[in-house]
Amino acid sequence: MTARIDPLTASADVDLAAVRANVGAIAALVAPAAVMVVVKADGYGHGMVPCARAARAAGAAWLGVATPAEALELRESGDTGPVLAWLYGVDEDLTPLVAAGVDVSVATAEQVSRLVGAAATAEQPARVHLKIDTGLSRNGAPASEWDALCAAAAEAEAAGALEVVAIWSHLAAADEPGHPSVDLQVVAFDDAYARARVAGLEPGLRHLANSAAALVVPRARYDLVRVGIASYGVDPAPGLAARAGVTLRPAMTLRAQLALVKDLAAGSGVSYGWTWVADRPVTVGLVPLGYADGVPRHASDVAEVQAGGGRAPVRGRVCMDQLVVELPGPAAVGDEVVLFGPGTGGEPTAATWAAWCGTIGYEIVTRVGERVPRRYS
Ligand code: PLP
Repeated sequence: MTARIDPLTASADVDLAAVRANVGAIAALVAPAAVMVVVKADGYGHGMVPCARAARAAGAAWLGVATPAEALELRESGDTGPVLAWLYGVDEDLTPLVAAGVDVSVATAEQVSRLVGAAATAEQPARVHLKIDTGLSRNGAPASEWDALCAAAAEAEAAGALEVVAIWSHLAAADEPGHPSVDLQVVAFDDAYARARVAGLEPGLRHLANSAAALVVPRARYDLVRVGIASYGVDPAPGLAARAGVTLRPAMTLRAQLALVKDLAAGSGVSYGWTWVADRPVTVGLVPLGYADGVPRHASDVAEVQAGGGRAPVRGRVCMDQLVVELPGPAAVGDEVVLFGPGTGGEPTAATWAAWCGTIGYEIVTRVGERVPRRYS
């Protein structure tokens, strides 16, 4: 178990009402398509089980995870609804997933065989989603192997070992409106579905869209959309939610208490390497969070936090456990520092941090470390 920072010293506060509101808004937008809320990677850093419960309460018919362990943790938490797990290792035993009624993604005939074996051991059919690679070139069967995969799945289904619940794929660039890959992938997906039917399969569901496509590519919504980042209130790319007429509420606020406040004379170098040197007398505050807690080192000398009555710039390099900010006004030890949040109190958002650090909002929230306690409201 990870030793945690005292929650009074620093915490990631998660607003579950915001998760519910985001999921509800997306569900209304995409209806009649259903919603799968993606809760992998500890709910994108927000806490998997609490976010899963919030998602279900807001109408998520499905939950999506990467690993079998994540799916089984959902089951252990009491979740009994449809769950899809899509990534597993070559030696991983899939029997517990089948026994727990978790849907499993399949991309090769070898994986079909493994699931047939797992179904025999679990004494119940495996529920599978056949994945076609329509252009991401990541997971999924290449088009050249699709017919063989469908044939293997149809045979196993006829034998009562499998139930083909869905066919699915994943988009490469839905967050870049107008990117030519989207149309190409939609066409390839439709073709794969037609070929699955020729092979004798009748999958009840097709799903292709992530958050970006759910928001702005209506033709990619099909029967079900898989929504991760937008559920947590982070726009997959600037302006997408607004284009869809959806207001997203960022769910996570990363906050801390100032651990130290002190005056520095002009000429003082700050943090490792003295990348910032005060050109005047300044007051600085010590924030007890660092890159071990997910604050990107790329935030050094570029990011800002909310402290001392305004925006406090990060001065010098972010260290493993701490960073230094220049305080814009009076502040005392114990005063609150907000690194990012919904933006309603003047603080930056995760999206702004992403822009400062040359990354995406996904990475800012997902990386918040295990040492930082999550608090829920
Ligand atoms: N579907 C798959 C297969 C994914 O890997 C992910 C996340 O990476 C998602 C859906 C959700 O994507 P997003 O967070 O952009 O909505």
